[in-house]
Amino acid sequence: MTALIDPFGRHVTYLRVSVTDRCDFRCVYCMAEDMTFLPKAELLSLEELDRLCTAFVRLGVRKLRLTGGEPLVRRNVMWLIRALGRHVGHGLDELTITTNGSQLARFADDLFDVGVRRINVSIDTLDPEHFAAITRWGRLDKVMDGLAAAKRAGLRIKVNAVALKGVNEDEFDRLIAWCGDEGFDLTLIETMPMGDIDGDRTDQYLPLSLVRGRLKERWTLTDVPHRTGGPARYVRVEETGGLLGFITPLTHNFCEACNRVRLTCTGTLYMCLGQDDAADLRAPLRASESDAALESAIQEAIARKPKGHDFVIDRRHRRPAVARHMSVTGG
Ligand code: SAM
Ligand code: SF4
Repeated sequence: MTALIDPFGRHVTYLRVSVTDRCDFRCVYCMAEDMTFLPKAELLSLEELDRLCTAFVRLGVRKLRLTGGEPLVRRNVMWLIRALGRHVGHGLDELTITTNGSQLARFADDLFDVGVRRINVSIDTLDPEHFAAITRWGRLDKVMDGLAAAKRAGLRIKVNAVALKGVNEDEFDRLIAWCGDEGFDLTLIETMPMGDIDGDRTDQYLPLSLVRGRLKERWTLTDVPHRTGGPARYVRVEETGGLLGFITPLTHNFCEACNRVRLTCTGTLYMCLGQDDAADLRAPLRASESDAALESAIQEAIARKPKGHDFVIDRRHRRPAVARHMSVTGG
């Protein structure tokens, strides 16, 4: 096995795969209400996604996360998750998904069955009306049913909430208490300037340094050295025993320990969430049944992984720093 090591000596061991750009929600910070999605013909087939992910596992990837769009709305996605499940314990340490939870009630048992043990579920508010307003098309009761099914199935759950100024900033105490009661970890995410949405993003940006300062007045937060190679910094909430993570791409530079790359559902590999530089893996994948060309295309891409991102909210021009939507690479 040849490890994937970039020019800065970072080992790439984590692949995030957006299996579809489509979604059954239209969260206000993520998508415009009227989105144009990729024509289905452009998507990699599930078999092709399996082949690509398997090549990455052969090259040393130890953690795979399926995301989207909403991964569980892709037709027959369980086939892919089951196929990838064969690598768990055989090269892969973890197979996981990030989901909005809308389809979880249907899939929770199958996910556990194929080897998934932990999932991330995105919930920005516990208020049903507010939830409907933020997701535009989502229903909180369905997500709650999904979470209950996931718990019953034995899946460990981390809740992701995007921190939105003037929208859910007074709800974090409730989320922390609820996650504590349920035994879920919680991660707060700063909004990232990705893709055109209907509103103005600069109005939504809420620095988590501010949030953390406010939370400290109510909760005892103890730093923990829990590092994932990712952008999250964790504290333990002593009152609940739960972990609380802060993902702060705009106020904190986390690039030096970055171990991840992102693959889209069309086979484009992004070496950095905050940069446009990418590699096309669909052509080498389709060019030959042998994986030799594919593997060298992957190696060549990793050799171009940039040192870091350069997110800035462009306040003067009020345009996103990265043109593609988060749903293309899955966050
Ligand atoms: N649909 C799934 C979900 O919502 O969990 C998976 C894809 S979604 C793009 C992955 C994560 O990215 C979610 O937690 C979502 O809240 C977050 N996200 C989407 N757009 C974002 C943005 N502009 N800034 C920060 N986080 C964002
Ligand atoms: Fe869909 Fe997830 Fe984006 Fe919301 S954040 S619109 S659930 S992809």
